[in-house]
Amino acid sequence: MGLLDGKVAIITGAGGGLGEAYAKLFAREGAAVVVNDLGGARDGSGAGTSAAAQKVVDAITADGGRAVANGDDVSIVEGGQAIFQTAIDAFGQVDILVNNAGILRDKTFANTGEQDWDLVVKVHLKGTYNCTAPVWKYLKDNGRKGVIIMTSSTSGLYGNFGQSNYGAAKAGIYGFMRVLALEGARYGIRVMGLAPGAFTRMTSDLPGMRDREPSVLALPENIAPAVLYMASDLAEGQTGKVLGVSQRGVSEMKMLQVPGFRPSEPYTAQDVAAHADEVFFPADWERVVTL
Ligand code: NAD
Repeated sequence: MGLLDGKVAIITGAGGGLGEAYAKLFAREGAAVVVNDLGGARDGSGAGTSAAAQKVVDAITADGGRAVANGDDVSIVEGGQAIFQTAIDAFGQVDILVNNAGILRDKTFANTGEQDWDLVVKVHLKGTYNCTAPVWKYLKDNGRKGVIIMTSSTSGLYGNFGQSNYGAAKAGIYGFMRVLALEGARYGIRVMGLAPGAFTRMTSDLPGMRDREPSVLALPENIAPAVLYMASDLAEGQTGKVLGVSQRGVSEMKMLQVPGFRPSEPYTAQDVAAHADEVFFPADWERVVTL
């Protein structure tokens, strides 16, 4: 018995990295998988081939699993629709969507051009919308329970130097996830988020990653079990939550509000300053949340 027996899962950006690991694990757990990937480089250039997706499909089928490749672009509405249709045509249903596709164009904000901004937001935030919309409509119209997983990041939840475009998109995905979790509750659609810390082509040359052997827990195949948990009935009742999954293990991550300064009368800026201890998170909070 697999955890995803009888389910159909769409995983975007699954031609490599984390998505590939999810696709292989989900297939081993009994899901039929749509492996989407546009190909291309980390910055989104040179895309337009489904060869990467096909390679993952070949590995899954060689292992006795069920999968189909799709090379559509998540960043356009037609791409999201075509990815959904691939699942319907190949397997007749959709139960799980993992929005995972992504690119990076890291620069300080001063050096970030409009194209760098637009493309990153388009692939991550609009891409999550494009793929979610047809699946959402299908689940709702058919009274079908389902799970949608969205990929956020500590760059959006907490901030990261040089990632204004990416952080804005990933924080937007967090907000999107929170709203859909509320709206989905009435239809039995769970919506979860993920903030991974993994050794992939996206991160392998970053400071802290490039100088040493990656922790075994940061390998994509060891991030995937937490995503399988979220996608499976093991997580029944869980919605609207982001799991941070990294070499440190698995933990829920939130955008939080501290109890704060709660005056009962109008107050001055000086009063706020005088209550700074209550207004701000304690200084060692950063230690708790920073990777
Ligand atoms: P990756 O580059 O290996 O995987 C991303 C995949 O998305 C690639 O295979 C790429 O071809 C595909 N893709 C890019 N644009 C696409 C498009 N328009 N349509 C379809 N596919 C497209 O990187 P990864 O580390 O596996 O990243 C997976 C997700 O996890 C991304 O959303 C990323 O932002 C997020 N993430 C990763 C980390 C990490 O530590 N690796 C941290 C935080 C968030």
